[in-house]
Amino acid sequence: MRIALFGAPGVGKGSQASFLNENEGLEHISTGIILRKAIADDSDVGREAKRFMEVGALVPGLVVRKLAEDAIASADFDRFVLDGYPRTIEQAEWLTEFLKDNKAPLLAVVSLSVPDDVIVNRISNRRVHIETGENFHLEYKPPPPDIDSNLIVQRDDDRSEAILNRLLVYHEETRPVEDYFRERDLLVLVDGVGTFQEVYDRIIGALKGL
Ligand code: AMP
Repeated sequence: MRIALFGAPGVGKGSQASFLNENEGLEHISTGIILRKAIADDSDVGREAKRFMEVGALVPGLVVRKLAEDAIASADFDRFVLDGYPRTIEQAEWLTEFLKDNKAPLLAVVSLSVPDDVIVNRISNRRVHIETGENFHLEYKPPPPDIDSNLIVQRDDDRSEAILNRLLVYHEETRPVEDYFRERDLLVLVDGVGTFQEVYDRIIGALKGL
């Protein structure tokens, strides 16, 4: 199964993708996680990406394209869930072409929808484990008490000015990607409001029907 999770920042793509990894064995490919790791490693890619990510802007497409394509190839072109790629029409075209060339088309693009005010609440309460990348929510999914609290941090781009910029970028540049996949009959709309388990069950239900 080859799928992509789509939606604004904070709709739950990352959490749902890591659950799909645990439950269905799909490789979780998140360009955001790969970039944050590159920044932590202080690699060339990390240094280039940092200044864009800090302010909630998109990292230049060609950088992200290579990261995503390498990760898809490492997964042998199957059994993966993309999280955060593609984010522009250009990236959607690259991805479609790349998967076509490798005879590995997507089964579906699952778009999670959540109103902006719910998103802002979720993002401002989000904390992340700096080593594993696992997400927590201070209210609904607090980090377990046995985890070293120094490892649980707020992402720089989850602070308020960056959140608003990321939502703006989403509406202007990323949202049109939904139409791109709708026109190709790949779009599956899933209501992203509800408990984590409810949303997960909706995703699985929608995929079973394909
Ligand atoms: P995420 O973890 O998916 O919310 O991504 C965090 C940040 O990484 C985004 O706000 C962008 O700055 C950058 N990023 C991740 N994926 C992409 C992408 N496909 N295109 C451009 N920038 C990206």
